Amino acid sequence: MIVVMKNGATKVQVQDVVKVLKDKGLGVHVSEGEEQTVVGVIGNKQKALELPLDSMPGVEKMVSVSNPFKLANRAFHPDNTVVQVGSVKIGAGQPTVMAGPCSVESRDQIIQVAQAVKASGGHILRGGAYKPRSSPYSFQGLGEEGLKYLALAREATGLPVVSEVMEPDLVNLVGEYVDIFQIGARNMQNYPLLKAVGKTQKPVLLKRGLSATIEEWLMSAEYVLSEGNPNVILCERGIRTFETYTRNTLDLNAVPVVQHLSHLPVIVDPSHGVGHSRYVNAMSRAAIAAGADGLIVEIHPNPTEAWSDGAQSLTLPGFDKMLREVQQIAAALHSEDNSIDEEVDYATQR
Ligand code: PEP
Ligand code: MN
Repeated sequence: MIVVMKNGATKVQVQDVVKVLKDKGLGVHVSEGEEQTVVGVIGNKQKALELPLDSMPGVEKMVSVSNPFKLANRAFHPDNTVVQVGSVKIGAGQPTVMAGPCSVESRDQIIQVAQAVKASGGHILRGGAYKPRSSPYSFQGLGEEGLKYLALAREATGLPVVSEVMEPDLVNLVGEYVDIFQIGARNMQNYPLLKAVGKTQKPVLLKRGLSATIEEWLMSAEYVLSEGNPNVILCERGIRTFETYTRNTLDLNAVPVVQHLSHLPVIVDPSHGVGHSRYVNAMSRAAIAAGADGLIVEIHPNPTEAWSDGAQSLTLPGFDKMLREVQQIAAALHSEDNSIDEEVDYATQR
């Protein structure tokens, strides 16, 4: 349930509504939008309906929210959430590009890649230090040593860094080094981990689970938000289907669907989405054309020698080319002559 306040409702009127709800034992989330304030109600809907809310001064209407996700719901927070990392704003209109190797392999490797990401115009450096590998015999990541190299690469270039945290006990340690926590696809439903990163204020890049529905994914975001961390960035990275020519099936449907359902920024990982470097450019362009708030792409100075995910990694010149193409698409979308109209649900317009 949400209480939509009238345009121009006063702060006191909003506070009165909040008080009435809290006195009834309900959770309250106030979102002050550019035009309107909405008061989201969390808890027993019946209790809220028993209150004389729609006759209170400043209240325009009550709207029932049927989705199980509340704080992640656009109804609770009509304006887009912008997640700020240093001077980088994710979800503010222009696409944010994160790039780097699947795994941090050495100090020199990550610094070389960071310099290339910066030179090409990328915004954030990625690199795995704790790797969720399908086989226990595969390289598991350099651990804290890898985090130290990432921090050195940030120092050398000024680029913020994103890296995966796999267990609640490592949240503090990883948090000392990274600017964004990555929650990997395999851990999307690791609820203790989601709660642990939710207790921090550091941005969280939440990847979609391998077989997760959009609703399950948004419920995982809800775990982070409900612990008090509003800085969630969603990441579509492909889902499992019957197709075998690609590693996963990149579900670009998710981009407009998430943007309709939620206020959280959504970026796309074409690398894990397709699994083969030759398809990465096309899907990066498609993601940006679909309106994604950014990309996270795997790149490597020598993909054939990469310690993980070399087959899907772009070379450094390949990344530069990809970025030029993506920038052209972003510029076309944002040019005044070509502005994209707000999505219209034509089916319900008839
Ligand atoms: C990765 O980013 O290297 C990774 C393991 O991604 P995912 O969790 O999407 O498989
Ligand atoms: Mn990878």
